[in-house]
Amino acid sequence: MSEGAAKKEEKPRKFQAVRGTRDLFPPETELWNRVERAAHEVFATFGFGEIRLPIFEPTELFARSIGEETDVVSKEMYTFVDRTEKLGPEPKIGAFGIFIEKVRELYRSGEIPQTGGNQLALEHMESAWKKFNGLSPDVAISLEDLDNAYQMTAYMDAMRLGIEISLRPEATASVCRAYVEHGMQALPQPVKLYYMGPMFRRERPQKGRYRQFYQIGAEVLEKEVASGEWPLEARGKRVASKEGKEVTSGPPQAGVASKELAKDAAVDAEVIEMVIAFFDRLELQGVQLDINSIGDRNCRPKYIELLRAELLKVKDKLGLDSQRRIETNPLRVLDSKLESEQGIIATLPRIGDHLCEECATHYAAVKHQLEMRGVIYRENWRLVRGLDYYMRTTFEITAKGLGSQNAVCGGGRYDGLVELLGGPPTKGIGFAIGEDRLILSLQESGKGVVATGRDVYIAWMGERAHATAIRAAKDLRKAGFSVELPPVEQKFGKALGQADKLGAKYALILGDNEVSEGLWTLKTLADGSQAKYTEPDLLEHLSKQRALKL
Ligand code: AMP
Repeated sequence: MSEGAAKKEEKPRKFQAVRGTRDLFPPETELWNRVERAAHEVFATFGFGEIRLPIFEPTELFARSIGEETDVVSKEMYTFVDRTEKLGPEPKIGAFGIFIEKVRELYRSGEIPQTGGNQLALEHMESAWKKFNGLSPDVAISLEDLDNAYQMTAYMDAMRLGIEISLRPEATASVCRAYVEHGMQALPQPVKLYYMGPMFRRERPQKGRYRQFYQIGAEVLEKEVASGEWPLEARGKRVASKEGKEVTSGPPQAGVASKELAKDAAVDAEVIEMVIAFFDRLELQGVQLDINSIGDRNCRPKYIELLRAELLKVKDKLGLDSQRRIETNPLRVLDSKLESEQGIIATLPRIGDHLCEECATHYAAVKHQLEMRGVIYRENWRLVRGLDYYMRTTFEITAKGLGSQNAVCGGGRYDGLVELLGGPPTKGIGFAIGEDRLILSLQESGKGVVATGRDVYIAWMGERAHATAIRAAKDLRKAGFSVELPPVEQKFGKALGQADKLGAKYALILGDNEVSEGLWTLKTLADGSQAKYTEPDLLEHLSKQRALKL
């Protein structure tokens, strides 16, 4: 490299946050903290405990749970190969043989994934190595050898030399994984967990839509009681035998199944009530709750077939996206916001008319339970969730001031997901709140104002006053006041100007007089009034003012 080029490279470069990511800083972060504090407090009152999850997981966890066909998994995940550390660094040409042997060994043990692609690449790499002659000292390197060397490295690059990892696009799958991994089915059921943190999706960034965004979510998981474990009287009708003894016979009582449905409905409603309680606490404006039931394994497939048949009849009138979805996921057509499709969608069959008896009973019970809790909802038969694992209850909450990305919360029931991830049959219901959007909505409606500034600015002058100022700052901070203590002395006029700029409520003035008299001057910056206090009186006065929220 020429000297000039090296210099050019060293030139300082300004960096910017990657597209779709952003920095959050004061004073806005204070609002984020307030929101998160409220979540901790409100969720705890409903008996939820916090779970902290890894930011990345095996890609397969998301592929299995969210579904390979979904946008999230098929195009939006940040995925990389976590190359096994047993492989060591990239080999030099001379060490290629040893490297291939290691790859083969790790492939056999499964540490390098045993996929068709890897198998093929490994074979090609081995055969190119066998043909490679470039190490022989007395033969000049030939074009053929160059080609073989190129092939060896190209096939090495094509191999997945470790497991595939993805940054989490959501957290439900992780919570279910953790439930199974830690045997939480042995804990008292249901297990109620909440989480908060960043999620990652490679979506097109716009207002309220980011590639790194934050969710606050909760899940309720409950191991299903197998019918064999039902209480005896629940398993069949109690009848008197010929000998006059009581025995059970016949099919399980319908009462048990309906009790389970009623219980699920109450859990669903309480989870929704919790989100609403959280939003109420934050004074979120324009909260609109939409609910729906999307059926279950019994009734949904039949409905989807019916929907598909009806959609095929009007295929020509639909946009390209919807046309594609007729095959891949017809429910998603109902999601469409395309103006030209709205009239057609209004005429399609509605799932509510095609629920099986159990789903219909459950849905009616959810609505009743919401009413008992005073939760206002709107039924929206077009509310289907994009993810494969939802069943029965789905819900979405929108709020004010968000434009087209106005959903702040989405959730639903997902019985069966834990089982799909290798756990026992388990029921599940949960939601995820988009924290970025929640904050945006609070700000847009004027509910996001947070107190900034300091309680006390200490204006001190002189060496003796400095020592007193340090002590005063320590005591005030201990009592929970935020204090700004300038590191060097300032003329009082300048100090008061600074205090004003920082939005301080009070200036504590400490000069020679104050120190020798033991009487400190407190100036209330809002009205300019001044009063003198002894040290203990000052603390008491400030604490009283704080209690009065002055
Ligand atoms: P989902 O996990 O897709 O059900 O989303 C739940 C909630 O997360 C949505 O209602 C949004 O509020 C929020 N959300 C989803 N994707 C994004 C994103 N890319 N940027 C910001 N918020 C998002």
